[in-house]
Amino acid sequence: MSDAVFRAVAGPPPGAPRPNQAPAPATPGSVPPGAPLPGQPLPPRERADSVRLKGVSKTYGNGKEALIDIDLVIPEGDFIFLVGPSGAGKSTLIKLLVRDEKASAGRVEVAGHDLGHMKKREVPLLRRRIGIVFQDFRLLPRKTVHENVAFALEVTGTPKRRMQPAVERALALVGLTEQARQRPDQLSGGEQQRTAIARAMVHDPRLIIADEPTGNLDPLISWEIIQLLLRINEMGTTVMMATHDAEVVTALRRRVVALEDGRVVRDEVGGYHREY
Ligand code: ADP
Repeated sequence: MSDAVFRAVAGPPPGAPRPNQAPAPATPGSVPPGAPLPGQPLPPRERADSVRLKGVSKTYGNGKEALIDIDLVIPEGDFIFLVGPSGAGKSTLIKLLVRDEKASAGRVEVAGHDLGHMKKREVPLLRRRIGIVFQDFRLLPRKTVHENVAFALEVTGTPKRRMQPAVERALALVGLTEQARQRPDQLSGGEQQRTAIARAMVHDPRLIIADEPTGNLDPLISWEIIQLLLRINEMGTTVMMATHDAEVVTALRRRVVALEDGRVVRDEVGGYHREY
């Protein structure tokens, strides 16, 4: 995370614009925040959408049509809930956005990059632009909180001198500075999820995708996690959260994209259920 963003986290007024970030010096194997991927210049920032899907379908090898003709635009800075019953296609949509799967038809763009034409070697660079948070946290059990977050930087070849401050900022963001030396089994579920969010944020991503992040947490702790995601969104990071948590969705009155049988059946600001 850059200093500029950390300052924004430390106390911006709600809705304050994200401060301009000074570009970090490029080093082999690392991509400074906001830099274009090789051969793929970013569109001008004011026109950038985080996510743009046009006519996207996904048919798995067994013939299952998991997504059918999806059109979806998520402007930078949005906070959206992705809802729908089990089997509706939510995970498939997320897999397309992080290039775990390729669309069978249509165009998928994330942060200005056309994923259909992205070269294999560029995929890890894309993933550094996206922070992902899962329901089951996916922490490394033998590593401490600090090491779990640092590992996300290690695997991308970030120099050691840049790692320490970045990890400290990410842990401060989620309020886990005191727990830095503990292992996941010494943490509560909420603390484990906050560790996972710190790991997702340590690269200063433009988009956070949270796949049922509160699915394993009790209601009070779920609210803490949601508040944290809202704060991250206020810093300017786009947030897409897949959830079944009707209470949270209905209370927050944010944009809700509902999938059913692979199609978008609703895209509007509102509650978990359609209100008439
Ligand atoms: P959700 O996340 O909303 O529960 P999924 O995206 O996991 O939905 O699944 C959508 C549909 O695609 C389901 O019918 C599911 O069984 C099917 N599906 C998911 N992954 C695969 C796969 N790898 N191969 C075949 N079918 C799949």
